[in-house]
Amino acid sequence: MIAGRRHHSKLWTPFLHLHHNHHNPLCCLPVLPGTRTWTARAACSTSSRRNLHSHTGDTATNTTTAATAAAQPPRRRPSFITSASSWTKLTDAGLKKIPSPGDSLHPDLGPLLKPLLIPRVVNTEGSRKALAHFTNFFGDMDWTLHYDNFSQPTVLSKDPVPFSNFWATLDPPWKKKDNQEGEIARLVLVAHYDSKIEPQGFIGATDSAAPCAMIMHVAKSIDKAMRRKWAQMEKEGDEFAMADEHGFMVLLLDGEEAFKWWTSEDSIYGARHLADKWESTMHPAHSTYKNHLSSINLFVLLDLLGAPNPRIPSYFKTTHWAYQHMADLEIRLRAMDLLESGKDHSLFLPDRDKTVFPEGLQIEDDHIPFLRRGVDILHIIASPFPPVWHTMNDDGAHLDKAVVNDWAVIVSAFVVEWYGLEPFLKDNGDGMKTVSERGNKTEL
Ligand SMILES: [Zn+2]
Repeated sequence: MIAGRRHHSKLWTPFLHLHHNHHNPLCCLPVLPGTRTWTARAACSTSSRRNLHSHTGDTATNTTTAATAAAQPPRRRPSFITSASSWTKLTDAGLKKIPSPGDSLHPDLGPLLKPLLIPRVVNTEGSRKALAHFTNFFGDMDWTLHYDNFSQPTVLSKDPVPFSNFWATLDPPWKKKDNQEGEIARLVLVAHYDSKIEPQGFIGATDSAAPCAMIMHVAKSIDKAMRRKWAQMEKEGDEFAMADEHGFMVLLLDGEEAFKWWTSEDSIYGARHLADKWESTMHPAHSTYKNHLSSINLFVLLDLLGAPNPRIPSYFKTTHWAYQHMADLEIRLRAMDLLESGKDHSLFLPDRDKTVFPEGLQIEDDHIPFLRRGVDILHIIASPFPPVWHTMNDDGAHLDKAVVNDWAVIVSAFVVEWYGLEPFLKDNGDGMKTVSERGNKTEL
């Protein structure tokens, strides 16, 4: 941690106006109780641009605004990795076809979320149940499942404690078949599934049961469309396009929470282990992507989502172009009355037109070990944090069901755009209702 004022909870930047409900005796700044710290952005100045896939409009239906285009990375000349990097905006008709979560994310009824609304402390029965939930869900969709099991001492235990990161991949079948791991780049959606050890019985609905379940909905929303796209590509047999096609990854991390106070040693156990492992595990020589880290197109981290009235700033100038795409989608979905929180609700993503990014401070979270190794990060975390943060009130009853569903829809639309899936979406939502069928009413 460099030049950051260390607390047992997040350090807050002065430019953010955050509510607080207790005063940290270690510090003169008011802070919320709990985890994470702000640290100097300088610590991450090595965040090199690993932007192998500039999402510019070389072949896209380029309706990008001038402001958006200006924030995007420079165009690359066509190469064997560029066609998948084009960005095709969803049409209005396409937006209407985004699958709605319906009641699948309902805290009391939802098959995706309800099983996660239990304490999920590292190396406990609840944690194993959460992992089993992911295994069953992604296994049923026939994704490739991976586990990163490791043990290490913690501040509470000199004996090594077992942790388990989980990821599931959906890759172009021709690359999967030929085991071309070094040729597959992926968009990665990330959340942590562990919950804080204290207070006892803490659920962590926004932190991060709901983000995990939202990501599951996103995966379900795109699964069949991706497969239809790839089936068509195989039929067409365009080797150039096929070599260029990307995969998709869901990464659910263990051990994000501190066992005692948030420090660089007592926090983000899973992320630190995995970033190190992925950096040092090399793909075969001559691979396009030398290791797992370099094959991450964008690391989209969802955290502290599901509370009412979220506000998510754009944290990184380098990935502001991606933030703008997501913010654009929110604006369009809202204008078309396709979000449950309603047309007139304040924007979840208000920073589309932001041009000045203060240097200096940032939120510590699971992205840090990846950021420091040069991975591009889109951090979707509410600031200010939800009022229920790290309290017993961060439970299912305090989730805003409309907001939870809307996040799932916005992120689904983002992934659909990323992969150009509009032609492969079904009018019937592949068995889920679409956002337009849902209308603007909560069904429950
Ligand atoms: Zn937390």
